[in-house]
Amino acid sequence: MTAPLRLFNSLTRELETFHPVHPGEARVYSCGPTVYNYPHIGNMRAYVFADILGRTLSWKGYKLTHVINITDVGHLTDDADAGEDKLEKAAAAQKQSIWDIRDHYMEAYLADVAALNIRPPAQWSIATEYVPAMIAFAEKIAPEHCYELDSGLYFDVSTVDDYGKLARANTDEGEGRIEAVEGKRHPADFAIWRKTPPGETRQMEWDSPWGKGAPGWHLECSVMSGRLLEFPFDIHTGGIDHREIHHPNEIAQNQAFCHTDGLGDPANSGARIWMHNNFLVERSGKMSKSAGEFLRLQLLIDKGYHPLAYRMMCLQAHYRSELEFSWEGLGAALTRLKRLVMAVETLKARHAELGSASIGPLSAEGWTLKRVQGDEEVMANFRSNIEGVDEALSDDLNTAVALVTLDFILAAKKSPPSAGLKAVAAIDAVLGLNLLSLKRSDLRLRPKDATVSEPEIEDALTRRKAARAEKDFATSDAIRDELAAQGVEVMDGDPLGWEWRL
Ligand code: AMP
Ligand code: ZN
Repeated sequence: MTAPLRLFNSLTRELETFHPVHPGEARVYSCGPTVYNYPHIGNMRAYVFADILGRTLSWKGYKLTHVINITDVGHLTDDADAGEDKLEKAAAAQKQSIWDIRDHYMEAYLADVAALNIRPPAQWSIATEYVPAMIAFAEKIAPEHCYELDSGLYFDVSTVDDYGKLARANTDEGEGRIEAVEGKRHPADFAIWRKTPPGETRQMEWDSPWGKGAPGWHLECSVMSGRLLEFPFDIHTGGIDHREIHHPNEIAQNQAFCHTDGLGDPANSGARIWMHNNFLVERSGKMSKSAGEFLRLQLLIDKGYHPLAYRMMCLQAHYRSELEFSWEGLGAALTRLKRLVMAVETLKARHAELGSASIGPLSAEGWTLKRVQGDEEVMANFRSNIEGVDEALSDDLNTAVALVTLDFILAAKKSPPSAGLKAVAAIDAVLGLNLLSLKRSDLRLRPKDATVSEPEIEDALTRRKAARAEKDFATSDAIRDELAAQGVEVMDGDPLGWEWRL
């Protein structure tokens, strides 16, 4: 009785009903970060999107296997075959080993993943751990699909059908590519193995049938996805930039591999559905790690925003729409999250007042659509809402509509609070906003550089309350002015319940 899940497939440019390759299962691969720098919040939008996809699949009852890779070798400063390895360049600039660079930025990425309540996948696959498998893959497809040049082993894109079908750019003309490599047969041909130039030694290099060198970035994802999920698997995700070069190249390799492996269908793309999130942009244009203020999640936290306010900001937009970042927008998302948390607090208070029987630990963990549908109390009160959330998410992951439905549930004053709380838990299992555990006070704006601590503010406000109760307005005003001097604005009677703001 669940709505059919429909997802937009970039390959066919159509909404398609999800039919798993293996009944009851969902296998998903997401292109992960290249760990040469901190991720910006635009990068993190890609993982919030992949998380919503994974949570939706689990919620709808599929047994999910999600893999996200960590790219620690092979990604050049240009998506075509020009430029240097991003990690090698960062290591040289920071005078550290590549492995230290990798560990440091991977840790930073994982911290952002946790702060945004992104569920860890079944497996993080680290590219350098799969190099022998990459060599084996390349050896297999090389005879029919590759040619060797002094600089490496190249994939000949004319050897597969429909090369570049996924991309919007006209790849026949090699648009967007820099033909930096002499001897390439076609501008879109790409290196699957890059040889170390004679006389040089690299920090990261491996022996191969084509000499010492390193794998190409596109090869990595084909190998790890195929190994861990088996071709064909269900869904491959990434940011919209990957639709143009990285994923068409992965698809070409997958086609070559499946063809050579006798899988029968030479057009096998490796994954049935390819999904792409649109960009988070700044007013000035594309988000960048080098220009202007580097928008890391930590910067948002330092400015006082709870990281889940950024998750809320992502969920308010459809993943296929461009989303413009602004501090006002983030503030509005924080306020919206706070309204939800306050409404949940009210529900909890109503529930406690009724002295009702315990409804078990309040957690979103483990709620699936099946479990909600089996809960008579929830269904008696919120059937249409729960169905509404299912329909919204099944409609290409429309989180914005799911959020509105949640508002309706929280506004239903006449329903039993226990049913409301369970409905919130069930919906938060997909949205991942931690609505049952967040407290209003967690969402206060608290910049890192504030000079006054929270207990000090609370203490001053308690003294002020006492003074006002005794009608000692002189003292009350003095305390308010003292706080104002430290940058704290006291907000009496604020409709959203903010007591103060730094
Ligand atoms: P990278 O670490 O550069 O390989 O990027 C990690 C992920 O973030 C990839 O899926 C990219 O497509 C995606 N991405 C990069 N920039 C943005 C952005 N501004 N907004 C959303 N996703 C992005
Ligand atoms: Zn990839």
